[in-house]
Amino acid sequence: MAQRVQGTEDLYGSYMRAWQHMNDVAREVFGTYGFNMIETPAIEQVATFVHGIGESTDVVRKEMFRVFSGALVESLLAKGSESGLKPKQRLALRPEGTAGVVRAAVQNNFVPQGGAPVKLWYAGPMFRGERPQKGRLRQFHQVGVEWLGASDPAADAECIIMLMTFFERLGFNPESLRLVINSMGDAACRPAYREKVRSFILDHKDQMCDDCLERAELNPLRAFDCKNDHCREVMKDAPLAPNNLCEECASHYAQVKRYLDEAGVRYVEDPTLVRGLDYYTRTVFEVEVEGAGVGAIGGGGRYDGLMELEGGKPTPGLGFAVGFERIALALQAQGKELGGDDPSCVYVACTPDVRPSVFGAALALRKAGVRTETDSQGRSLKSQFKQADKLGARLCVVLGTDEVAAGMATLRDMATHEQVQVPLADLAQAVIERLA
Ligand code: AMP
Repeated sequence: MAQRVQGTEDLYGSYMRAWQHMNDVAREVFGTYGFNMIETPAIEQVATFVHGIGESTDVVRKEMFRVFSGALVESLLAKGSESGLKPKQRLALRPEGTAGVVRAAVQNNFVPQGGAPVKLWYAGPMFRGERPQKGRLRQFHQVGVEWLGASDPAADAECIIMLMTFFERLGFNPESLRLVINSMGDAACRPAYREKVRSFILDHKDQMCDDCLERAELNPLRAFDCKNDHCREVMKDAPLAPNNLCEECASHYAQVKRYLDEAGVRYVEDPTLVRGLDYYTRTVFEVEVEGAGVGAIGGGGRYDGLMELEGGKPTPGLGFAVGFERIALALQAQGKELGGDDPSCVYVACTPDVRPSVFGAALALRKAGVRTETDSQGRSLKSQFKQADKLGARLCVVLGTDEVAAGMATLRDMATHEQVQVPLADLAQAVIERLA
């Protein structure tokens, strides 16, 4: 039997409905803030991710699925190296959504200089070559937003409030959500801060793991995220980002917090929150669910340098992404179901001799927008009723020899077992009235 790839899932039944429901809630909540949907390709040039996410990040160095056509693989195997490949031949499956959306914004000039900001949201599969475990997949689904052209700290606060509203609308108990925020500084103050952290790690190199020593050179702030308990203990004394902000960044952060306070949003400041991707500047945030044990269900922040990194004009921006699978797990842990049952339907049953009449009756009902099921296996009337029950049909239309001859149909309410006769010509109307 063919097998699914490890770390991937099939979405069907209530799980599929859960994903669709999450998209519906996203469209509704983000729509009230003026966001429109965008869909970018799942496959992009590697350069898009290297520029945006950062060459030194785990996502780009270790987790990106690279894509080669069959012919290209053959030529690579023959040459033994990919060094001769052109940029347009170096492709990858997207590990996240932001870099692709920003690439699209640059390429299509969504935010002309001096133009109004653009607000976009997306939903779709992302791919990371991670070791699969609970809440950590190789193909997972994200819903995210990107707000390009906005520099105002009110935008940071609005983005966070929109995210928390989205979680509440999905059914999370607001008390269980833990919003963590931090400011990582910008091009003016971050380089000096990075250097301080690098020196700190090197001053403590005897106590840090090999990964952190490598991080010291590549991306020192990632040492705050080290899984090694000892490194975490040492990093407790490392210089903290909020104490090393320039005046503009400190003022921006203070205003974001003031807006959040004004809106009554509960948050925790974590001066070690750095997030895994290089593009963040100033505000960063993550949301966890207490007691769910699935890690962060969403996160994001400001990325004022990203449009430039992708080849555009300097344009501020911010956004977030949430993970569908972790949200579903966390809601389940709170005893909540995101998907729900199959939508109810109407079943058209018949005795075998009038089967052709079912065809027309079902057509008329579907044309009127009624979800309609019929038998397609030549089952007996009794087993058609059983099937109707199993499908959760609210009404059953029964066609028998005498009824069809008289141009009538019997309508049976599956809950009350009440039956009425209606003219076949008015069937759709009668069904719609009863369903209402
Ligand atoms: P990130 O881009 O890493 O900040 O991810 C944003 C959100 O996507 C996270 O908070 C998770 O909910 C989800 N996510 C990230 N990586 C994975 C993964 N490998 N499997 C499942 N969900 C993920």
